[in-house]
Amino acid sequence: MTFCLTRHQPFGYNLTATIEAALYEPRSSSGPGHRPFKAEITGSNPVRGTYNFLEKPGISMISVEEALERILAEITPLIVTVVPLPESLGYVLAEDVISKEDIPPFANSAMDGFALLSQDSQPQDGKPPHLRVTGGVAAGYVADHAVVPGTAMRIMTGAPVPPGADTVIQVELTHSDGPTSEWVEIMQAVDPGNNIRPAGEDIHRGQKVLLRGTEIGPWEIGVLATLGWANVPVIRRPRVAILGTGDEVVDVHEPLRPGKIRNSNSYLLEAAVRQAGAEPQRLGVALDTVESLREKFTEAIQCDFIITSGGVSVGEFDLVKNIMTEQGEIHFWRINMRPGKPVAFGHIGTVPLLGLPGNPVSAAVTFELFGRPVIRKMLGHTHLLHPQADVVVEDGVSERVMRRHYVRAHVEWRDGRFIAHTTGNQGSNIMTSLLNANALLIVPEGGTVIQPGDTAKAIMLDWPEG
Ligand code: AMP
Ligand code: MG
Repeated sequence: MTFCLTRHQPFGYNLTATIEAALYEPRSSSGPGHRPFKAEITGSNPVRGTYNFLEKPGISMISVEEALERILAEITPLIVTVVPLPESLGYVLAEDVISKEDIPPFANSAMDGFALLSQDSQPQDGKPPHLRVTGGVAAGYVADHAVVPGTAMRIMTGAPVPPGADTVIQVELTHSDGPTSEWVEIMQAVDPGNNIRPAGEDIHRGQKVLLRGTEIGPWEIGVLATLGWANVPVIRRPRVAILGTGDEVVDVHEPLRPGKIRNSNSYLLEAAVRQAGAEPQRLGVALDTVESLREKFTEAIQCDFIITSGGVSVGEFDLVKNIMTEQGEIHFWRINMRPGKPVAFGHIGTVPLLGLPGNPVSAAVTFELFGRPVIRKMLGHTHLLHPQADVVVEDGVSERVMRRHYVRAHVEWRDGRFIAHTTGNQGSNIMTSLLNANALLIVPEGGTVIQPGDTAKAIMLDWPEG
């Protein structure tokens, strides 16, 4: 039996390249003068050729902040669509909502009781006034006659106040013969307007009630329903293509043959994309060939945004950048961070493409930092990033990393402080470091060590963007 290392060509790992890459690892942003790097394809055969993406003097990693700024500069909110009110949850409102009506539309009672004239509630000769009950009005109906001096009308919560009445007394402050009583005694004097909710008390006609750009939650849906918006103009949800890459990657239901691993990234990213509010389209896994990638990208460019995982590093089979160069452009592909140095951003045609690293933890973290804000911007949100908090790192971070280090941690509120615990081995292949993590500790560039008990900034992943 022959032992086959690769499918396409003899194994020839470019050791020099790897060492160069390691040595040439700059420690800070390339600064504003940085020019987008255009990849060069060398060699005659695009499948078997060597692709020289190694860093050269002047081609360096950019900072996380610069990467995010440059990515977001390329993204605009999508177009407006109209959805039925019950489906509008989570969308961003595309128009200001201006009320055409007063809410409530008519003056109504806030209590079950009696509608009367306030002057009739004053005691007479030190005794409670005795009024004739002329009828009743329930919620949903209007009175067929007016309240005149010396009379009262039974009224239920939400019923329109009958003409003539200027006040409502709750039933507990009256005395009568029961529900059909023809008389009522008023046990307490009441002012005009008592227990009456005037028309327009909540919202007046012409009022701007909700602003364009508002995220629609259950409470906004309640207000929209009150105003009669059965259909709501919103920003369309982006469709996001999710593409795995790698000859070694098999699908979740396939048996694991030697050398193969399961495709965790596509499923993780599909869920994260959906959670961010977009519609994921999982396109399977492209082989590490230009042909296979080209075929998948034909499908992917039907979407609003393409997210790939794997194939963006400096290996010989990392071909995603080549396709980007061939069919579009690369704006940058290296970020001064860990996990996730090889993150490519560019376009295929006009569709933005975020090429995430293959290691699952790197893919997960870089999606949170770059992919989720892109989706939120496309959705029309103005708050794109999770808040940060100062946290006490109880166990510390002893590993020295020259790049910005995002350490997965669990943060909880204890004794008046946010206390963080890291989630164990922080290797970019250690998927279990994601479990139980609700925050990313930010360890600054330059080999910073966080001693146990030191304070650090943390991105609070389970706090809504704001
Ligand atoms: P790459 O960037 O393509 O060299 O991939 C880096 C690492 O991530 C390799 O160990 C890959 O096997 C692994 N990897 C790539 N794609 C996936 C995937 N979809 N699911 C799980 N692991 C992956
Ligand atoms: Mg790969």
